Amino acid sequence: MDLGLKGRTAIVCAASKGLGRGCAEALAAEGVNLVICARTKPDIEAAARDIAAKYGVKVTGIATDITTEAGRREVLAACPNPDILVTNAAGPPAGDFRNFTLDDWRKAAESNFFTPIALIQATIYGMMERGFGRIVNITSASVKAPIPALELSNGVRAGLTGAVATLARTSAKHNVTVNNLLPGQHETDRLTSIIGNNIKKSGKSEDEVVKDMKARIPANRFGTAAEFGHACAFLCSAQSGFITGQNLVADGGAYPGTL
Ligand code: NAP
Repeated sequence: MDLGLKGRTAIVCAASKGLGRGCAEALAAEGVNLVICARTKPDIEAAARDIAAKYGVKVTGIATDITTEAGRREVLAACPNPDILVTNAAGPPAGDFRNFTLDDWRKAAESNFFTPIALIQATIYGMMERGFGRIVNITSASVKAPIPALELSNGVRAGLTGAVATLARTSAKHNVTVNNLLPGQHETDRLTSIIGNNIKKSGKSEDEVVKDMKARIPANRFGTAAEFGHACAFLCSAQSGFITGQNLVADGGAYPGTL
């Protein structure tokens, strides 16, 4: 299926690796030119080079922290009028609610609430004027089913979901959609560190921990960044203009609800 995106431009945040990279590659495969960012310079430069060579699109890699105002300014200066915006940044750490400081909450809000809000505010009105725009926020399955010890993530991501819910309806008549893509467990560095924590906590072997984690997923496996990227590309497609304000869970069936 041709997603009708050839020649469009996209900002994909936090995209040298993991889910952001999956989204960047899936869009590049559709002929979308990219501005991607990550904090580690060699990694983002290598990602930009590799994606450009593989898909024949223009890719600008920016080494910056997207959760800072300076970082967002840099990315927006490189691409002030994107057709597509994929917001993403590292998730907040796990912990014990009793020990979270207000500063921990502020940091979580800065990364996973204020940052996407600022990027959306800077880009969505231009998209509306131009009559095309697709915004996808990478959030978490924890928005639908909160995860113990991840209260920082559960809280701020639910806040973002609420904050964009009416915006997604306001922009729809301009062919600008806003959707949230909610990853369950995918094979990325983030998952490797979660597996490491589970090994420490349980005293079990890596094989046992991974087997137990997969057993809780109806698909009996972890997702891949590539398949997550395809879901993102579909939400960004020309054909998806009637899908807005949605929270699409990509979790191999782990969320047990019907809605
Ligand atoms: P990941 O594998 O750790 O990838 C992180 C990518 O984001 C890297 O390219 C990293 O590069 C970049 N990055 C992180 N923080 C950044 C920042 N402040 N500014 C710019 N770039 C940044 O993570 P992931 O698994 O793809 O997860 C993506 C998001 O989905 C996170 O919010 C995560 O919490 C959420 N999520 C993931 C899963 C999962 O199973 N993977 C499940 C639920 C939710 P640098 O380190 O060089 O900056």
